[in-house]
Amino acid sequence: MKKLVLVGYGGMGTRHLGRLKNVKEIEVAGVYDIDPEKLAAAHQDGYQTYSNYQAVLDDQEVEIVLVATPNDSHKELSIKAMTAGKHVICEKPVTTSTKDFKDILEVAAKTKRCFMVDQNRRWDENFQMIKKLYDTNALGRVYDIENRVQGSRGIPQDWRQNIEQGGGMVYDWCVHLLDRILVLKAGHRVTSLYADLSGALGHQVDDGFRVILRFDDEMRVLLEVQTRNFIKLPEWYMSGATGTAEIEDFELHGEYVTLEGELTKEAIPVEAGAGFTKTMAPRTDGSVKHHPLPQVQTDVCDFYRNFVAWIDGKEEPIVKNDEVMRTMYLIEKIFESARKNEVIKFNI
Ligand code: NAD
Repeated sequence: MKKLVLVGYGGMGTRHLGRLKNVKEIEVAGVYDIDPEKLAAAHQDGYQTYSNYQAVLDDQEVEIVLVATPNDSHKELSIKAMTAGKHVICEKPVTTSTKDFKDILEVAAKTKRCFMVDQNRRWDENFQMIKKLYDTNALGRVYDIENRVQGSRGIPQDWRQNIEQGGGMVYDWCVHLLDRILVLKAGHRVTSLYADLSGALGHQVDDGFRVILRFDDEMRVLLEVQTRNFIKLPEWYMSGATGTAEIEDFELHGEYVTLEGELTKEAIPVEAGAGFTKTMAPRTDGSVKHHPLPQVQTDVCDFYRNFVAWIDGKEEPIVKNDEVMRTMYLIEKIFESARKNEVIKFNI
């Protein structure tokens, strides 16, 4: 069992502690937070607390530091921990630049410590369902994926509104959405990107984004997050040559529909609005089949178990740092595209 200290007793930090109760390979040795009130709350919740970060670093029994603090503090806390001999799990986004991430990786290499980023949304059931449909070719050749997360409450009233702290929805959500699409499209290269950031709520950071990526096989992906939508669009929409899948929400409402028979059989025109249409005429009964979403098994605790197995030299890391670097490179391109209002072409 390896001893872990959580740094940052906030929203995500406390989620980690809840999940770690199911991970027998890790014992939570304590908590550190820069805010005395948070530290007092951790103490009241029954955790041993450290009154300063140096005390965590000096504790020889602690093998793992889990950094769950605002985005601008990840680099310094992680580098200090590895320099003190600790392995590090770090929250996403790992940093706010590829340069800072390279600096972290240099220290990881020099100190021979394991450093892994919490890309936990790979374990979301809705993503795993889409991946299963994609991997099993259930929709025929897929040419279009849309992945949206929408809410109506604006950006949280915390550091997420500050540019210096790495606020905004691109850092908050786009790292997850990009990471998952790159996992789904493993082996393919991204050839271009266009991004449009929204700022309707008047903050110094983006309150939403639309990103369009193209892959080397011509597949198009739309990633979108908005924080002012009172009617939500489906979270996932995937179109293939012979089928379409839709997942509406985190509660996994949805289905997929596949073609039975011929794609282009002559349709009977229908009245539509002030006109008529053959192209958009509904399909006849029996020409399509409706399916429930596939079953998947996911357990986000596998992330922590894999981290321990990596430290022990028994497994390869499940979230690889070169994958995270690719995501962070694309995040930089998203800001560049939005600034220039241009499609950025590359081959990565
Ligand atoms: P939060 O504001 O709720 O908590 C952050 C905590 O860190 C606070 O208690 C704060 O006092 C403490 N803190 C700040 N600076 C510190 C420092 N230098 N040393 C020690 N403690 C410090 O924020 P949050 O929502 O928990 O987000 C924390 C991190 O987790 C962010 O990087 C965020 O992007 C990430 N996050 C990830 C997910 C996910 O699903 N992976 C979800 C939410 C947040």
